[in-house]
Amino acid sequence: MNQLRKFMYGRYGVDRFSRDIILFSLFITLIASMTRSSLLLWLAYIPLFYAIFRILSRDTQKRARENYIYADLIRKVKVRAKNTKLLLVGTRTHKFYRCKGCRQMIRIPRGKGKISISCPKCRREFISRS
Ligand SMILES: [Zn+2]
Repeated sequence: MNQLRKFMYGRYGVDRFSRDIILFSLFITLIASMTRSSLLLWLAYIPLFYAIFRILSRDTQKRARENYIYADLIRKVKVRAKNTKLLLVGTRTHKFYRCKGCRQMIRIPRGKGKISISCPKCRREFISRS
């Protein structure tokens, strides 16, 4: 255990990005074994080696920046998925607007006539038919 600690000293270690790359690699391995594709099995090693490279890397600033960019990307994808789900579920009962100030998606119940809408994010107001 002490040897491992000594070996890992100054190295970046595991972060969310590396963990997800390893999970992605395992996922490809699973598909490769189900389809019996040896090419896919070999391709699964590429993300795995990249994850190992990141974990053992001594350039911790660069790895931290990559992890930050990855986390930001995941956050954006989650927001988009949530908005798409809201759009798909609620078009009959709600109307959707995008704030002209900050591009925030705003959901308004239908059938309330002409109303003043204020953006919950940037407080910009506009009048629209609901
Ligand atoms: Zn806004």
